[in-house]
Amino acid sequence: MRSPIIAGNWKMNRGTPDEVKEMLKKFIPQVKGIDLVDIVICAPFTALQTLIEITKKTGIKAGAQNMYFEEKGAFTGEISPNFLKDFGVEYVILGHSERRDIFKESDELINKKLKKALYMDLKPIVCIGEHLNERESGKTKGVIEYQMNETFKDLNIEEMKKTVIAYEPIWAIGTGKTATPEQAEEIHVFIRDLLSQKYDKETADSVRIQYGGSIKPSNAKDLFNKENIDGGLVGGASLQADSLTQIIKAAENTIK
Ligand code: PEP
Repeated sequence: MRSPIIAGNWKMNRGTPDEVKEMLKKFIPQVKGIDLVDIVICAPFTALQTLIEITKKTGIKAGAQNMYFEEKGAFTGEISPNFLKDFGVEYVILGHSERRDIFKESDELINKKLKKALYMDLKPIVCIGEHLNERESGKTKGVIEYQMNETFKDLNIEEMKKTVIAYEPIWAIGTGKTATPEQAEEIHVFIRDLLSQKYDKETADSVRIQYGGSIKPSNAKDLFNKENIDGGLVGGASLQADSLTQIIKAAENTIK
């Protein structure tokens, strides 16, 4: 019922046209014919033009890693959703833990960006997740519930259905430590229950919830085999064509 979505998050690691071309030259032929998995590459702003040009005739979609909630004005250094849309960008990551922790983005700010992205018809991938100390002190579900309430505040059913949620335990991002499939599934079920309470079961069943945090070809299959894990947000392993392709194939193999 929910098609898996694999989104590569290149962070600030591949941003020049040559770096984009080098990766895509290998990657595009490798994923040719995979059409039941949504494939998204979220690249730095400087890489988007090359990414969009090269992937135009493929099923690969371009995503940005951030945007501002205003369309125009005196916001030095920010990127307008209007510019992204005009460029041909389809997806946008919002509220990544690196934005929350390093750049101090609040749930309130992320909520404003989310509403604007939806208004502009950009497809948001919204990240939520707990820190290690929060997990170790048994606060994971409390943190997730708070972020769900605040980040998705005042979203109507249609808007919620268009939003992809990325559950990313922060202690697993870029650390090589992955949540076990059982740990991840437990939180995905919890998120779906919250959606069911706030909206209804049909909405909860239709929202795609990705897992993110050190996904690799070696652990992707076990994670994606879990009923409530609808693909992944992939950082490090999305930088190389081979590893990203293997992860996408693992997601494809979970489709019955
Ligand atoms: C991420 O950037 O969202 C991420 C999950 O990174 P990594 O796969 O490197 O842990």
